Amino acid sequence: MRFSGLRVLMEGLTGNKGWQAHWRDPAPKPEYDIVIIGGGGHGLATAYYLAREHGLANVAVLEKGYLGGGNIGRNTTIVRANYGLPGNSEFYSHSLKLWEGLEQDLNFNVMHSQRGIINLFHSDGQRDAYARRGNAMVNQGDDAILLDRDGVRKHAPYLDFDNARFPVRGGLYHPRGGTARHDAVAWGYARGADMRGVDLIQNCEVTGIDVENGAVTGVQTSRGAIRAKKVGIVVAGRSSQVAAMAGMRLPIESHVLQAFVTEGLKPVIDTVVTFGMGHFYISQSDKGGLVFGGDIDMYASYAARGNLPAVEHVMEAGMALMPMIGKARVLRSWGGIMDMSPDGSPVIDRADIEGLYLNCGWCYGGFKAVPGSGHCFAHLMATGRPHAAAQKFRLDRFRTGVGIMDEEGTGAQHNLH
Ligand SMILES: Cc1cc2nc3c(=O)[nH]c(=O)nc-3n(C[C@H](O)[C@H](O)[C@H](O)COP(=O)(O)OP(=O)(O)OC[C@H]3O[C@@H](n4cnc5c(N)ncnc54)[C@H](O)[C@@H]3O)c2cc1C
Repeated sequence: MRFSGLRVLMEGLTGNKGWQAHWRDPAPKPEYDIVIIGGGGHGLATAYYLAREHGLANVAVLEKGYLGGGNIGRNTTIVRANYGLPGNSEFYSHSLKLWEGLEQDLNFNVMHSQRGIINLFHSDGQRDAYARRGNAMVNQGDDAILLDRDGVRKHAPYLDFDNARFPVRGGLYHPRGGTARHDAVAWGYARGADMRGVDLIQNCEVTGIDVENGAVTGVQTSRGAIRAKKVGIVVAGRSSQVAAMAGMRLPIESHVLQAFVTEGLKPVIDTVVTFGMGHFYISQSDKGGLVFGGDIDMYASYAARGNLPAVEHVMEAGMALMPMIGKARVLRSWGGIMDMSPDGSPVIDRADIEGLYLNCGWCYGGFKAVPGSGHCFAHLMATGRPHAAAQKFRLDRFRTGVGIMDEEGTGAQHNLH
């Protein structure tokens, strides 16, 4: 089933009776070439690119809940390529390029909107750091413009520029950054993978990973044993638990991150804005809700539900930055479980166990990474070689200390990234 304007028109005129389910509901087969554990954004994108780029369709994605029920459907939808360090810089640049052709590629409207992102700065030191980052982005071939105060005012006149504690001095503007509809990204990749023969198996929890003589041979699931030559672990906040099934101890901590949305308002914020002096970022959804979030809850947990101190911090930061937000009523808040790595950067690598592959450590920034991560992980699983854009995402950097990508400069502390 292909989507087009003509199709929408025809369906509208004929009672919308011709739409079909976007993907099948297959029973698990006893054996696959490749099993992907986790039907989030990264797992579905991996399956899609395995089939599309490498012609591998004897693949199953095993999801313990429903597709899109994890962090892929819980994030604040920000898409950007504004990293400064080698490793991250080329990877996120690669991912943004894939975003830019994604809707045509998937024939699915993921509502990718390049409305621009402004990272505000509030001091000379912060301006210098942003100028360095902007130069790194430009060197990578991406776009970055250092705005002064008046430049920011043109985009975001509603900010409190003269806040006594945190006056806005300017911002780093990334015009190609923006947002996308998060669950549509999962649906689009799911549909594309299913169309190419991948089995998407929901309500199928992996409970064990079978390893014989140092090589993976399959998985145990709530729907029976499944044999596989290769297994990819792509389970975001559950990475440590699932890797432990293969006897591995990952340098990953899980933390909850919350997000908030207000009632629908008339259009007021037409970019993404991030506060430089508190963890707060905001955009406006197409339905009019102000979508915003802050930092993680700062202690390790598997509870996908947040706590009030983090809520208070986010609300205070929002009020300091744009006091007009105080008039909006918060409609909903929710949480997701983040796989925090010691340097805040991800892992796309092989495990020491033959046939076992790891994709984790995306922290609270893995939504924008979905196309790049799926593309590079599929390349690694299909060819056995790392993709050029992701070759620095090695697991052993945490053992050797070589190649750490600590964008925030906060050291090896998970909850500071
Ligand atoms: C509140 C919030 C705001 C965020 N904002 C942004 C943002 O603005 N921009 C950005 O880039 N990133 C953001 N992120 C981060 C981003 O959402 C995540 O990094 C990314 O979605 C994680 O990858 P995923 O989509 O594959 O994860 P998930 O969707 O969580 O997928 C993992 C899947 O694995 C499944 N699973 C787990 N264990 C098993 C098992 N044993 N067997 C089978 N299946 C299993 C889970 O059910 C889940 O569906 C945010 C996250 C949150 C929570």
